[in-house]
Amino acid sequence: METANILGVRFNAITLDDAVDAAMERIRAGEKGYVVTPNSEIVYLCRKEPALTALLNRACLVLPDGIGVVYAARLLKQPIKGKVAGIDFAEHLVAQMAREGKSIFFLGAKPGIAELAAKELQKKYPGLVVKGCRDGYYKDDQEAIDAINQAGGADVALICLGAPKQERFMAAYQGQVNATILCGLGGSLDVFAGTVQRAPDIFIKLGLEWFYRLLKEPKRIGRMMSLPKFMLVVLKTKLFGKGAK
Ligand code: UDP
Repeated sequence: METANILGVRFNAITLDDAVDAAMERIRAGEKGYVVTPNSEIVYLCRKEPALTALLNRACLVLPDGIGVVYAARLLKQPIKGKVAGIDFAEHLVAQMAREGKSIFFLGAKPGIAELAAKELQKKYPGLVVKGCRDGYYKDDQEAIDAINQAGGADVALICLGAPKQERFMAAYQGQVNATILCGLGGSLDVFAGTVQRAPDIFIKLGLEWFYRLLKEPKRIGRMMSLPKFMLVVLKTKLFGKGAK
């Protein structure tokens, strides 16, 4: 599969539909793996944490979630096929899983949210088999692992603990969790549950989803400052090559 190197993170150059097909093939074959959807904030964080780059690059699918990564790919002449938002990947995957009667477990978000997300998704995609839910606020990771395994495991576990916590969880425990695919999907459960709204289409089309999120949650400003910093490093890399700081 063709990949795009963005500051050391190897993204799959893949469309949303092909990403869902690739994940479904793994599920059908029972081939374990985890899916990550890094945005520019996470790629920027990787510069300080090489171990994070390594664990992102060990994922079976690395999808470009965010317009910053797409612009970076264009500037660096890397072959990305456009943004694949984690939430879109999740929804399309769930839709296909429902058609094939595959099972899912939801881990993450505040108490009650995962159950609400599961209910909404089952309403929309009736064939979906929900094995269980567990909120993302526990003391010991083992509690989360046990919750998934005691539910009998699942074809897919959505791990929605925010980045980079969810990526570390998936890389560390993939072997212990009884699920074929783990998907790290940030705040997706809040959106599926309906407690957080996605940006209107016009913002998404204009590449301004980040701006809408900032308007709704101004406290994200600190995190979002990594976007211009990321773009600066990308520009320097373009001008001065790989080692640019
Ligand atoms: N979360 C969680 N456990 C934690 C910290 C966060 O389950 O210890 C959840 C939080 O409730 C939210 C999601 O993780 O549902 C993170 O959402 P955010 O929008 O910050 O995700 P990101 O921007 O990292 O994709």
